[in-house]
Amino acid sequence: MNKMLSKIWLALIALAFFVSCSQQNAQQTLTLQGRTMGTTYHLTLIAQSELLEQSKIQSEVDAILEDVNDKMSTYRPNSELSLLNQNLSTDPVGLSADTAKVIGQAIELGELTQGALDITVGPLVNLWGFGPDGRPNKVPSFEKIEQVKTHVGLDKIQLDGSLIRKADPKVYIDLSSIAKGFGVDQVADYLESIGINNYLVEIGGEMRLNGQKADGSQWRIAIEKPVSFDRAVQQVIEPGDAALATSGDYRNYFEQDGVRFSHTIDPTTFKPINHKLVSVSVIAPSCMEADGLATALNVMGPEKAFDFAKKHDLAVYLVVKSDSGFDVLFTEQFKPYMK
Ligand code: ADP
Ligand code: MG
Repeated sequence: MNKMLSKIWLALIALAFFVSCSQQNAQQTLTLQGRTMGTTYHLTLIAQSELLEQSKIQSEVDAILEDVNDKMSTYRPNSELSLLNQNLSTDPVGLSADTAKVIGQAIELGELTQGALDITVGPLVNLWGFGPDGRPNKVPSFEKIEQVKTHVGLDKIQLDGSLIRKADPKVYIDLSSIAKGFGVDQVADYLESIGINNYLVEIGGEMRLNGQKADGSQWRIAIEKPVSFDRAVQQVIEPGDAALATSGDYRNYFEQDGVRFSHTIDPTTFKPINHKLVSVSVIAPSCMEADGLATALNVMGPEKAFDFAKKHDLAVYLVVKSDSGFDVLFTEQFKPYMK
């Protein structure tokens, strides 16, 4: 009888232990949102409730994104980048570690994509009306383009560690193609540093995901149909622990005489891109890389982008306008993510 009792006790203790463990492990979901970089951000976090201190996390995330803006925004006249752009000296200038890192990655991707991603396109972006001073909504003159393009080209900047030197005083760097992705990575790294490993971090459509949802299932993301008048699903994907960026020109453009002018500039023509590729999605380990690559592939146009993605083993999904609607192209590396 004694033996029997002790067995029951043991069972009860084991049960109590199990209950307290599962209570401790009870996962809660916290969602946060806000505005940054001219767009919105959304966070979904899943962790034990004691880790999810809403006001602390929100203010920390806002501070991180403010810091990225203070360093890399061309929309802030006093950001580190704007001061560099206003500085007409060709002497080396010291950069913060973050800005040097983003410029370094952008130059690397610029070289890899043979100049499709070119952060020195700033003067052209501004001329076409997609910079901080807004859009003139008209095509600039040939003369003006000829004049401005002489200051564009990755050969006009040299980065050496955290020192940057402009070879041309009028070089103007624009990090808008990649800074959102960097912001996403910064937020994701912060979450991991406080022990939150199940998250979805999204800024203006660029995102990084890790772990699982509260019910243990995988994060699912919908790639939108590339139409400006509606929001509909084109493809559902499960990227796993990775980043996803989408570049598309169905939202940010102006129209003149029935022609659309995109905010993405082709550095070889000095004009907004003009081809049938309407949306590019890239899955990569870091969101900075995914963001930069998505813009670069969008510059290349459908054939070149698809060849480039295959050649470099990238996980890429393209939507291309066809006579009857849209065609879809994707690489082998993207296939496993499609649901
Ligand atoms: P998308 O999501 O359409 O790729 P992004 O916001 O990532 O858009 O990048 C587009 C922005 O990058 C433009 O608004 C402009 O400031 C800048 N940009 C335009 N063309 C280029 C280019 N060829 N290389 C680098 N940056 C560019
Ligand atoms: Mg981009």
